[in-house]
Amino acid sequence: MKRRHLPIVLFVLVVLAAPYFLSDFRIALTNYIGLYALVALGLVLLTGIGGLTSFGQAAFVGLGAYVTAYLSTVHGVSPWINLLVGLGLTLLLAYVIGFVTLRMSGHFLPLATIAWGISLYYLFGNLDMLGGNTGISGIPALKIISWEIRSEREFYYLIWVVLLLAMLAVRNLLDSRAGRAIRALKGGVVMAESFGVNTPRAKMAVFLIAALTAAISGWLYAHLQRFVNPTPFSLTQGIEFLFMAVVGGIGHVWGAIAGALVVTELKQRLQDLLPGLLGQSGNFEIIFFGIAMVLILQWARHGLWSLILRLARRIAPNRSWRRPLAPSGPLPRRSLPASGTVLLEVKEVSKYFGGLAANQKMSLNVKAGEVMALIGPNGAGKSTLFNCISAVNPADGGEIKFLDERIDALSAREIARRGMSRTFQHVRLLQQMTVLENVAIGAHLRGRRGVLAAAMRLNRTEEAGLLAEAARQIERVGLTEHLFDPAGSLALGKQRIVEIARALASDPCLLLLDEPAAGLRHMEKQALAELLRKLRAEDIGILLVEHDMDFVMGLADRVVVMEFGEKLAEGLPQEIQENPLVLEAYLGGVE
Ligand code: ADP
Ligand code: MG
Repeated sequence: MKRRHLPIVLFVLVVLAAPYFLSDFRIALTNYIGLYALVALGLVLLTGIGGLTSFGQAAFVGLGAYVTAYLSTVHGVSPWINLLVGLGLTLLLAYVIGFVTLRMSGHFLPLATIAWGISLYYLFGNLDMLGGNTGISGIPALKIISWEIRSEREFYYLIWVVLLLAMLAVRNLLDSRAGRAIRALKGGVVMAESFGVNTPRAKMAVFLIAALTAAISGWLYAHLQRFVNPTPFSLTQGIEFLFMAVVGGIGHVWGAIAGALVVTELKQRLQDLLPGLLGQSGNFEIIFFGIAMVLILQWARHGLWSLILRLARRIAPNRSWRRPLAPSGPLPRRSLPASGTVLLEVKEVSKYFGGLAANQKMSLNVKAGEVMALIGPNGAGKSTLFNCISAVNPADGGEIKFLDERIDALSAREIARRGMSRTFQHVRLLQQMTVLENVAIGAHLRGRRGVLAAAMRLNRTEEAGLLAEAARQIERVGLTEHLFDPAGSLALGKQRIVEIARALASDPCLLLLDEPAAGLRHMEKQALAELLRKLRAEDIGILLVEHDMDFVMGLADRVVVMEFGEKLAEGLPQEIQENPLVLEAYLGGVE
């Protein structure tokens, strides 16, 4: 057995053995913990990893519960069909809500989920068809072939098997092409789009998955209780789910269970304890939870699970994720234009920030198999021009052609697909992810497998190909020793080199490098220059912004000089070095 499977195996053993030790009361409680953990798992993915907050998950739980409650009692439909209907309806509703809210910025989604949570809650309570506030009783027991799942103990196994499968699916997903796209949502949207990731789609995917796990939990709940009413699906419960995810460790799959366990246990104890202490009955635990939530967000933002992880690593340093990569042949490559072909044509591009003309009628071109250097003092507008070309921040005027096609109206994603790739002056790596995974994001467009395939591990061949490609590019830039290190642990200079590997992983014909040599030592700069020469010899076109003049002049075939957003000069390195205008502007005059 591989060491990384150990936690799962242990977990399964504990789950299997637990019913022999637990009292009926404990089993009942554990069932709820499992149901809550299923919802929290969705939130770990949505909020912890995707960075999208939802307070409305309880409404999706309610949807799953009410669909089966209604259909099975009123129309006698089989619970299993109801599960499908419930999931279908959830998908549809979540899609509509997501479609409206996900494209809006930051806090619209949480607000919308609150609104949606409240309105569905009142709908459950006010529809006569659904029994109003008294709800629906007489929901049939679940039956698997001839096994009627009636007792809490029987239900226990069903709930925990479902939870375990869901956890495995989420883990598989996160460890894949689609998963890396999802993990880029928090803080890496611009970068991800530049490598062809459809980030709105990735957001929608996590939103739908979270809604579905909630609905499954609701379906199980209805058949466990055999009765539903609106109370457990209120906004309060929605907030409690979020609380569980936060307490457990919002970025960790296992955190969902930890959070559900701790919050449920704590609530139980507090409900017994607080009214006695305060001499009054009431839901005082809610106040306690509110305060705890604030404290945790302030001081233990990463939750229980990361504490447990840190402890575990101290006891037994875990290197099991440094698993050898599955061998895989090279990925298919695009055919590169012949040396000398004009790849990029920038014509009179302008870009304004309010009154500031950051680029004014800037023109330049880059050919296959050449290094074109773009130089100029700080604030001249070089990075702005990069952003115009790669559509990170599109131009206000002018024309940009790539491979003879106008691209100035295209999205970053579409431009990436055509073979342009870039690095960022302010490094945009996902700091927690390994160097390997960061570089694999560069190869996003060279794979196709999506969320479902990843969850079911049908993506292994493709995944091996993408990771092997990433590893090859990392080797090419000389960072193999850091393959499995978190990108954020590298020195800034090396992080820039990781950015180059990531750009190369996309198999580009044009590379835009924004100050790649900044922060490098002399030897490292030489290695970088060597690499760029090799790429040039392979007929890749390179547009390079760099301040180190020795580096630039020793490498570039042509140079464009910018000042105050405008082109000051263009020519061979020798000509530029002797151009009095350039010397005056760039070097502040010469003797
Ligand atoms: P360079 O890369 O040549 O050092 P930049 O392109 O980063 O220069 O910046 C050019 C000018 O545009 C600077 O004056 C900078 O302050 C301004 N600028 C760049 N990006 C923005 C932005 N997003 N909003 C407002 N001003 C910006
Ligand atoms: Mg810059």
